[in-house]
Amino acid sequence: MELAILGSGAAFADTGHQAGYLVDSRLLLDCGAPATVLLPRMGFSLSELETILISHLHGDHIGQLPTLLAARAVRFPDSPPLRVIGPRGLGDHLHLLGCLNLGERFWKEVEVRSPVEVLSVEDRYREQIGDHLVEAFEVEHSEQLHCLAYRIESGGVSLGYSGDTTYCPGIRRLAGSVDHLLCECTGWSGPAPIHLWKEEVEQLMAEAPRANFILTHLGERRPVRGAILASDGLRFNLRPPARG
Ligand SMILES: [Zn+2]
Repeated sequence: MELAILGSGAAFADTGHQAGYLVDSRLLLDCGAPATVLLPRMGFSLSELETILISHLHGDHIGQLPTLLAARAVRFPDSPPLRVIGPRGLGDHLHLLGCLNLGERFWKEVEVRSPVEVLSVEDRYREQIGDHLVEAFEVEHSEQLHCLAYRIESGGVSLGYSGDTTYCPGIRRLAGSVDHLLCECTGWSGPAPIHLWKEEVEQLMAEAPRANFILTHLGERRPVRGAILASDGLRFNLRPPARG
């Protein structure tokens, strides 16, 4: 499984672009990073995208999605149908964002020119999408928003993505079920409201020793023993961890 990091920064940090991660060229996790520019820069094409998983509706995770969909409609009008999967309220939120960012008339044109299937899913959603088995885990982040983490499995390798979360049952369940966990680490010096901070991440690492932790949504960049720090432009070829 190939993982490319488009954005590794927390919402207000200077550590990297906002959230965006590409799996196997086809599956995009969150769209806070300017994927329209970053995907081609890293050698990928917008036309290859088949599925976009959105963790929650904060701008640093979904803010660039209307631009991405519009760019795809304009530049690759014959691309295969795209599915956008995410939390409750996704369809209305995306429509509103599209109208605000691009103007109602043009956004409606985008919706007609390049229709997208929008699907809101719940905790324990599970579906085989092409080569990828996708599962959703509800996590606790914002009281106002339904927030999801995801598990993706393909070719005997599993990758978890925390989205934004606090230390909650959903992220603990996910951490214990994957080979690799792309895990947010927003706070470094002390607890971060509605996010994980370094000591909670270390607690998760202790609870899930089988998982290889890749830290992202970084408020700062400092080493964490036993974990890898994501950075913009980094690519991983994920394999099952050696066992025994
Ligand atoms: Zn958030």
